[in-house]
Amino acid sequence: MISFHCPRCGKALIMPNREAGKEKTCPDCGAAFVVPEPPPRQRASRMRRLLPATVALLIVSVLLGFWVFKARRPARIQGRFAERLHQLSSRWQGIEWLECDPIHDHFKVSVYYGSERGTYHLEANGSQGSGPTIVRVNPPRWLAYARYLGAVEESFEYHGDDGSERIELQTLAGDLSDALRQALR
Ligand SMILES: [Zn+2]
Repeated sequence: MISFHCPRCGKALIMPNREAGKEKTCPDCGAAFVVPEPPPRQRASRMRRLLPATVALLIVSVLLGFWVFKARRPARIQGRFAERLHQLSSRWQGIEWLECDPIHDHFKVSVYYGSERGTYHLEANGSQGSGPTIVRVNPPRWLAYARYLGAVEESFEYHGDDGSERIELQTLAGDLSDALRQALR
């Protein structure tokens, strides 16, 4: 409601908001006047009523966006990993994710490398946290085993007797660990 006074006789008048801007006459003195706009206070209170709804909508949007972001995370990790290996060499083939679980931070990937010597089967485990990355070559009796913390190789074991194979596997394990670490970043 709009509460105001007649500009001529000063009578207190009350009119519904919808009458704002319309021409009326004073019921007491008959003076013609234009009904004033409701005070800004009323508009402010409407804003206050709308504010919680606006905030709620905003929170829902953010949560929904985060959910979509999280749901798409495994696909983005796998995409980055495949892209990285492809950049390194076309000899990397047959990527298979045994675990790709951002919720529990478990990641395990199996991949093949076609070397001059033959095809190697490598498996890498990693996490998005500060845990180690483990790379194993040729199951079930592992031909090589490597452990990394970040980009640093902590240990490398080779169970064969070919020095140049050892060097190749050490390089491959390092590349695979890097690719996984970068994909999980
Ligand atoms: Zn009047």
